[in-house]
Amino acid sequence: MNPLVKACHNCKVYINLDASYEGQKLEKAFDSKHRGHMVQVVQFAEIKDKYKLYEP
Ligand SMILES: [Zn+2]
Repeated sequence: MNPLVKACHNCKVYINLDASYEGQKLEKAFDSKHRGHMVQVVQFAEIKDKYKLYEP
């Protein structure tokens, strides 16, 4: 399994993409925190060893 995640390449953090209410809230917070950074949806396998899970 190789899910898509949203990653910030500047800060080397990512969040799991999740359609739930909590997931949407987290994604909004992530977007606002990393506004102006290189944020991109990528395959988890591409970043898993290098990036850390974002904790609000
Ligand atoms: Zn960032």
